[in-house]
Amino acid sequence: MDTDTITAISTPVGEGAIAIVRLTGAEAIEITSKVYEGKDLLNVASHTINYGKILDPDTNEVAEEVMVSVMRAPKTFTREDVVEINCHGGMVAVNRVLEILLSKGARLAEPGEFTKRAFLNGRIDLSQAEAVMDLIRAKTDKAMSVALKQMDGRLSSLIQKYRQDLLETVAHVEVNIDYPEYDDVEEMSHDMMREKTKQVRDEIEELLQVAKQGKILREGLATAIIGRPNVGKSSLMNTLIQENKAIVTEIPGTTRDIIEEYVNVRGVPLRLVDTAGIRETEDIVEKIGVERSRKVLKESDLILFVLNYNEELTEEDRKLFEAVKGLEYIVIINKTDLPQKLDLDEVKQYAEQQPIVTTSLIEEEGIDELESAISKTFFAGDIDTGDLTYVSNVRHIQLLNQAKQALEDAIASLEMEMPLDIVQIDVTRTWEFLGEIIGDTASDSLIDQLFSQFCLGK
Ligand code: GDP
Ligand code: ZN
Repeated sequence: MDTDTITAISTPVGEGAIAIVRLTGAEAIEITSKVYEGKDLLNVASHTINYGKILDPDTNEVAEEVMVSVMRAPKTFTREDVVEINCHGGMVAVNRVLEILLSKGARLAEPGEFTKRAFLNGRIDLSQAEAVMDLIRAKTDKAMSVALKQMDGRLSSLIQKYRQDLLETVAHVEVNIDYPEYDDVEEMSHDMMREKTKQVRDEIEELLQVAKQGKILREGLATAIIGRPNVGKSSLMNTLIQENKAIVTEIPGTTRDIIEEYVNVRGVPLRLVDTAGIRETEDIVEKIGVERSRKVLKESDLILFVLNYNEELTEEDRKLFEAVKGLEYIVIINKTDLPQKLDLDEVKQYAEQQPIVTTSLIEEEGIDELESAISKTFFAGDIDTGDLTYVSNVRHIQLLNQAKQALEDAIASLEMEMPLDIVQIDVTRTWEFLGEIIGDTASDSLIDQLFSQFCLGK
């Protein structure tokens, strides 16, 4: 395992005034002490904060006044020696400190490398490592709290619980087969096994359902604004941008920061700069026809469909209704400051159950209603992330789907009264898929676990 000492600027999330230069690795403390004036860092107690100065090794001038936290292995995030240098002098000073450390033998960390070390050193499991990455990219406070919870190990502990449940059933069957003479071990019946597998299947399904919301929180909602020319699409886009502070996310650790723009509407990040993000679509149906427009529009998570209050419904509007049928959309009837010509009952019929909002973008009316409609569409009201564990990682979702499918296979075999040792194969596969989520794929440990789980003769 490579244990060279790496360093990077890691500004705490949501905080701008203080910047931290972090080091991890066997020589983290030694490298820092070479350029530090103050207490002898090599001899200070672990987990202490020390006031001092970073000196420029060439000129011996003070580069920055700092607070240095020294944390010795193994009780650190990476399980290696970690030093955090708190700088107060702005980005120039921080960069200077970083350069000085690099000149003394530290290596610039790659993006995510601190987290990778934590994983490799067994400090966190895979899903937690991925959560840290999500945290770095989190676009909204809600996305951040989801990532924080996952980092906290919520997903891991759920997965572990499912695995434990499945393991117990497998162990039970195994014992029945291998030790038929143990009368005091109740015979595992098809009914018992079916009940257990269905229960885990249902719980996985629930996780997958909230995964959709998790994805949106993390990646932003690809939003399309459609409508005939002149109904107010550009105005709507501008209003959303002005009303809601656009979030610029920088992904740190890269030399050229990647910047993405999002508009945060009540915790729902609308994706703006992605090609599949907000785009104004005028004559899409005209150009490519209803069927193909549907296909294009399906790529959006949300469609804002704008109509003109001051005009009757046109053939083009009707075609647009056809194109969005069954998709997630909000009807926005704009220009309510002008005389009504639109038949609202007709619109209601076309829109079926989808929300309808009236606005006058010019007079800034109805915008609150629109924003709450956007948020409701996806969160069915105000979501409380406190109650939900989101799965927002593509790999996790894929594995959960595979796990669910394997359980469906097991349940199907049970319905057909197949022998339990056949059913067990699918249950074991489920156990393995779930294990991959938390980075525990060692399937040969299954047998060891089996017997440590099930205490015979008790
Ligand atoms: P787009 O072609 O759909 O993008 O429509 P625009 O946003 O460019 O707007 C077309 C025209 O309608 C512009 O002159 C806007 O100022 C005007 N407009 C937009 N919203 C309203 C509104 O609520 N009321 C009125 N009276 N005019 C509006
Ligand atoms: Zn426009």
